[in-house]
Amino acid sequence: MSHILEALEVTVTADRRRVDFAAGCLVGAACGDCGWATWPQRALCARCGSAAMSVSELRGPGELSTWTTVWTSLPDVPAPYSMGLLMVDGIRIFGHLRGDLESLHEGSLMRLVVNEGSVPPYWFETIEEAAA
Ligand SMILES: [Zn+2]
Repeated sequence: MSHILEALEVTVTADRRRVDFAAGCLVGAACGDCGWATWPQRALCARCGSAAMSVSELRGPGELSTWTTVWTSLPDVPAPYSMGLLMVDGIRIFGHLRGDLESLHEGSLMRLVVNEGSVPPYWFETIEEAAA
């Protein structure tokens, strides 16, 4: 069966979970043919086009690459707040940052937190680093 026909059999994007609140993780996918990993889940591999995507649980911790402060409020998210790009289990994920943000640096390890019913439904918290 071609990859396109296989894709017709997969769950549509809106029905695929992004967060598993009971398991406390983000729900990604990995390609069974080439190993490419992604979050959120996709029907087809963006690298090789395969539909052999299996569900993966992303738990972190995340390693911070870069971050910024946002000065414009969103509904249920008062400004200022911080957003960051982190490498989580081999996948770059953008999310809200909480905790001791004054101590952030490139490479900071941050704990993934998921919470059903909150806005946002997941974020990354600083992990207290041991004194050198
Ligand atoms: Zn692939």
